[in-house]
Amino acid sequence: MYDYLIVGAGLYGAVCAHELQKKGYSVLVVDKRSHIGGNIYTEEISGINVHKYGAHIFHTNDTGVWNYVNQFARFNRYTNSPVANYHGELYSLPFNMYTFNRMWGVTTPDEARMRIEEQRREYVESSARKKGIRPEDFTPDNLEEQAISLVGTDIYEKLVRDYTMKQWGRPCDELPAFIIRRLPVRFTYDNNYFNALHQGIPTGGYTQIISTMLEGTDVRLDTDYLADRDALNAQARNIIYTGPIDAYFGYELGTLEYRSLRFETEQLSTDNYQGNAVVNYTDADTPFTRIIEHKWFEFGVDRNGQPVPGTVISREYSLEWHPGEESYYPVNDRKNTALYEQYRKKADMETSVIFGGRLGEYKYYDMDQVIDRALERVSSVPGRR
Ligand SMILES: Cc1cc2nc3c(=O)[nH]c(=O)nc-3n(C[C@H](O)[C@H](O)[C@H](O)COP(=O)(O)OP(=O)(O)OC[C@H]3O[C@@H](n4cnc5c(N)ncnc54)[C@H](O)[C@@H]3O)c2cc1C
Repeated sequence: MYDYLIVGAGLYGAVCAHELQKKGYSVLVVDKRSHIGGNIYTEEISGINVHKYGAHIFHTNDTGVWNYVNQFARFNRYTNSPVANYHGELYSLPFNMYTFNRMWGVTTPDEARMRIEEQRREYVESSARKKGIRPEDFTPDNLEEQAISLVGTDIYEKLVRDYTMKQWGRPCDELPAFIIRRLPVRFTYDNNYFNALHQGIPTGGYTQIISTMLEGTDVRLDTDYLADRDALNAQARNIIYTGPIDAYFGYELGTLEYRSLRFETEQLSTDNYQGNAVVNYTDADTPFTRIIEHKWFEFGVDRNGQPVPGTVISREYSLEWHPGEESYYPVNDRKNTALYEQYRKKADMETSVIFGGRLGEYKYYDMDQVIDRALERVSSVPGRR
């Protein structure tokens, strides 16, 4: 009999397992996949650590979490600086002085500010006229209105409109404004996408973090908890469940929706395919949203600093999700949020089960938030020895 059964060998499950084990509890971890790591799993292909479920860049303002994760791997100094490709025109992301220079030829922050302000004002005035209201009373009704009123028409048309449509599968004027509360605009030449105190990629990939966390813990892969629930429950006193909350309850109240992704991964003989880890394709004609060239997360070198020959790229497609498919991004609109709340109430009544992680809480969490949530969850469990 184990003290804890943890369903899911992702980051949330692994942090809980590690901490509980340290407190003296016996833990069994099961995962229905054939590997540990959940969505942060990286697989080594010819010396390159491939982010199998999408590009993962660790970034956090929480120094406690940063120190915590650094126990399990050595992080490099990778700084996320994606590039946007619009019909062969290349722009810096986030929107910054390089972007504005490429877009309009401007060279000073004042000129850039003026361009954006001009386009913003023109748009708000004409939209307000159409709606029969004063410009000062204009409030965006959809994502298109929200985006243009933040960054003007040029940036919206080349860098936001079609990319967002590909991501969500619907045109921007049919998407709610709340999806983009703000679009970061920088009037500096800073290409660092994240405004975070700490940032990096674990040298050697993410899987080692999970395997180190799970050292000494019993792990059973290819084991679907829901398919063998009674037998597994009988083996533990407490359960931490990090799978989808609606699946736990047999979808009895309905199905929570997600957006899905598909990756087309290719190994190439060239040493350098695109010169950057992340290139977003922001036009409507390119069917994928981005191409990841995995070797650049680790600067194209191995652990000894030697150049890695060849390369591996993944084209990322954003897809409509159907039940049973890999779920990536929760659709936190009103309908799904209300449904989640109903499931949460049911979960609260399951006294020996803790629901956690991105699927258990139906919430997009960055890795640092997952670590923080998991640490907080197990912190109240008393030590055993
Ligand atoms: C495309 C993409 C890019 C991202 N990029 C970043 C980034 O750059 N930086 C960042 O900080 N975060 C990023 N994230 C977020 C990051 O992936 C999550 O924070 C993290 O993976 C969540 O960990 P988790 O343990 O909650 O969930 P998961 O990793 O999904 O783990 C849950 C595990 O439970 C298992 N499971 C489910 N049901 C069952 C069952 N019935 N029986 C047994 N096992 C089951 C699953 O197989 C899975 O392994 C990204 C997410 C996505 C989708």
